[in-house]
Amino acid sequence: MAQAPVVAIVGRPNVGKSTLFNRLVGKRLALVDDRPGVTRDRREGDADLLGVPFRIVDTAGFESDDPQTLPGRMRAQTEAAVAQADAAIFMIDARAGVTPLDETVAQWLRGSDTPIVLVCNKAEGRAAEPGIMESFALGLGDPIALSAEHGEGMGDLFTALLPYIDREDFEEEPEDEDDPDRILKLAIVGRPNAGKSTLVNQFLQEERMITGPEAGITRDSIAVDWMWPSPEGRFRPVRLIDTAGLRKKAKVEDKLEKLSASDTMRAVDFAEVVVLLLDATRGLEAQDLRIADHVLQEGRALVIALNKWDVAEGQSALFNGVKGALEEGLSQVKGVPLIAVSAATGKGLDQLLGAAFETRDAWSRRVSTGVLNRWFEKAVEKNPPPAPGGKRIKLRFITQAKTRPPGFVLFGTRVDELPMSYQRYLINGIRKELGFGAVPVRLTLRAPK
Ligand code: GDP
Ligand code: GDP
Repeated sequence: MAQAPVVAIVGRPNVGKSTLFNRLVGKRLALVDDRPGVTRDRREGDADLLGVPFRIVDTAGFESDDPQTLPGRMRAQTEAAVAQADAAIFMIDARAGVTPLDETVAQWLRGSDTPIVLVCNKAEGRAAEPGIMESFALGLGDPIALSAEHGEGMGDLFTALLPYIDREDFEEEPEDEDDPDRILKLAIVGRPNAGKSTLVNQFLQEERMITGPEAGITRDSIAVDWMWPSPEGRFRPVRLIDTAGLRKKAKVEDKLEKLSASDTMRAVDFAEVVVLLLDATRGLEAQDLRIADHVLQEGRALVIALNKWDVAEGQSALFNGVKGALEEGLSQVKGVPLIAVSAATGKGLDQLLGAAFETRDAWSRRVSTGVLNRWFEKAVEKNPPPAPGGKRIKLRFITQAKTRPPGFVLFGTRVDELPMSYQRYLINGIRKELGFGAVPVRLTLRAPK
């Protein structure tokens, strides 16, 4: 596994390096002291800024009572830390303004190959303004106004550091979940007589009904594991999760409501991907849409199979009709895969399973924060957020907070006023342009502190 990106914090004593270190590490690890010259060791910790992990190094420890030796030792410390880092935060105290020692440090840093992010700390309140203005003259780019103590400006710091800490080769912990050969947890749902039992039997290539521990006696869920011989010549593991289709035929006479309340819903709970089986001889009914909607609400990936294709009439008009009705009926997700199959003959089943694996991949997908924000900047530029009451909503950046299903957090000011239509614009963009396909994507809005 690749090493975590490293960020060093450098600057003269007492500007607030340890305070920022503590905030990024999230623990009271480092000693903070008001008196300059407290000797400390160089500290390292695992930091996290809005969900992006990295290693942080605090270079405090070069402090010395002796003003004659300070600059020399400080230079060695600073240069070593900066050289080993992917980026460095150069911190000054905005209340104190730019001091001669700050200027000296800036001079060392200007010659470094490591990207430097200039931070003006203690920037809460007006007393910091002159210091921030002065800092432009350090020749290290635009300063970021920060209050390490109060946690203000962390969003700007994040944006500035992002290009250096967001490394696509770095994953916090390798998850087995990302293994494409991990078993696919699949549930098959649909109205009675849609063909669920027939489909299960066709998958398992057996004529017997899999009933598990006596159907009707236990209501516990059952599952069956098997290997799908995929067309590309690989065996891929699938776990079929209990539905009425795995039970005895007698049970199928259950009323629809009863099915929805128990079997279907429980199967959906355990599944990653849900196949909703439609009966092509009956078309799409309201109950089908309700099941589909429930699956998406629960954050599961959905694939729809149009069964009994072998006896379907007017095939192309039928297919397009169902496709159109789905697009209209499933407002939350566009482009859910629709595949014509015949459970009885086996037609289309490889395509169905292929789509199920593909959808599971999209559902488990993680995009790097860098890629995400480059996309985001363009999306906002192309279609800026509205200005309710003449005041602009400022959208700053976005991170992917989770997978399975994918969840994103969007940071900005006045985000509570962002209209649903704009949120949908972003969600649709994420789906289409970042490879999430038709999986349910969640967006949370947050105002950074
Ligand atoms: P270091 O020597 O650079 O590591 O600085 P410290 O983190 O030890 O902080 C030095 C002093 O500045 C401490 O008294 C902190 O409480 C204070 N300090 C740190 N950050 C801020 C800030 O954002 N605002 C204000 N007003 N004080 C801060
Ligand atoms: P379930 O209630 O969803 O489990 O549905 P079944 O698997 O019991 O199927 C209901 C009826 O549809 C049975 O008579 C099946 O033989 C028939 N059926 C299922 N799949 C197909 C298919 O692909 N083509 C045709 N022609 N009939 C099918």
